[in-house]
Amino acid sequence: MDFDVISPKTRTALLEAMDACQDKKYRFGAGYTDLINDLNANPQEDLTVINLAQLQDEVFCNITEDDSGLHIGALVTAAQVLETPYVQTHYPVLWEAANSVASMQIRQTATLAGNICQASPSGDMSCALVALNAVCDIINTRDEMRIEPLADFFRGVKKTSLAKDEVLRSIFIPKNIQPKIKSGYVKIGTRVSMEIAILSVAYHLQADEKNIIAAAGIAIGAVAPTIKYTQTACEFLIGRSLYEIKDVVLENFSSQVLNYATPISDVRASAWYRTTVLENVTKTIFD
Ligand SMILES: Cc1cc2nc3c(=O)[nH]c(=O)nc-3n(C[C@H](O)[C@H](O)[C@H](O)COP(=O)(O)OP(=O)(O)OC[C@H]3O[C@@H](n4cnc5c(N)ncnc54)[C@H](O)[C@@H]3O)c2cc1C
Repeated sequence: MDFDVISPKTRTALLEAMDACQDKKYRFGAGYTDLINDLNANPQEDLTVINLAQLQDEVFCNITEDDSGLHIGALVTAAQVLETPYVQTHYPVLWEAANSVASMQIRQTATLAGNICQASPSGDMSCALVALNAVCDIINTRDEMRIEPLADFFRGVKKTSLAKDEVLRSIFIPKNIQPKIKSGYVKIGTRVSMEIAILSVAYHLQADEKNIIAAAGIAIGAVAPTIKYTQTACEFLIGRSLYEIKDVVLENFSSQVLNYATPISDVRASAWYRTTVLENVTKTIFD
């Protein structure tokens, strides 16, 4: 396989490279862990790869926090997420998801943007970020920015809302607004490591001093063509005590989550297995 590679070092050079490629076939490459597989499966003629790995741009490369929340650059890797104590403390769901990606070697290069832009229904960090109500910061060749909730960014398997003249620059996660959090990532697979999720559940609940849930984000992966934000299940939890979610209430909550699942049977698991395990896993959130 043969392709041209352009390696811009600045944002201006990146936007110029994208502009120059508008009449050609081109792809971005960040950590290449998905891209190389894609290109091996579907070899392309006359392809240009815009290599993002050499880019030296603060917004693309750094993790920064401010009063409104956390900004994570598109090129931040799973390993960098794991090395950030702020993420582990305030957004455990993302930390656990990053920790579940493949192996230590893959996590060194696998970027957040690559995980998102691959738009796989089983993307681990993507699922956690949907539960966190993350927002995409996207720029185009004219350096115009648009923002879009991550849950809306996914349009189908390997399909996103990105236009040809756009690139994902960073992800924003809103600050926690309550003192207590219950947050985690459950990934079901057949192996402990190097496993793509058969299904996953990401949850990030915030409660006040009296344990009343004031904000809830729950996302499910690998049970529909895209990762799903379970809006009505999240709303169902608001105003309830963290310790009240049992018996009939728990059954109700679980069926609200299941409403968002349209699993298929494939070589990895049957639709029945996915539905049954999803129901069981959602019930364990409140154990
Ligand atoms: C052996 C193996 C195991 C894996 N296990 C897991 C796993 O357990 N969990 C999991 O979630 N994933 C897994 N993956 C998939 C992959 O590692 C992740 O999705 C990873 O985060 C992709 O990041 P990357 O930087 O390598 O992306 P790349 O391969 O560089 O890019 C992926 C896609 O995103 C596009 N892209 C990249 N950056 C941008 C940007 N800034 N703007 C627009 N488009 C962009 C590329 O053009 C490409 O289409 C595995 C892959 C392998 C090879």
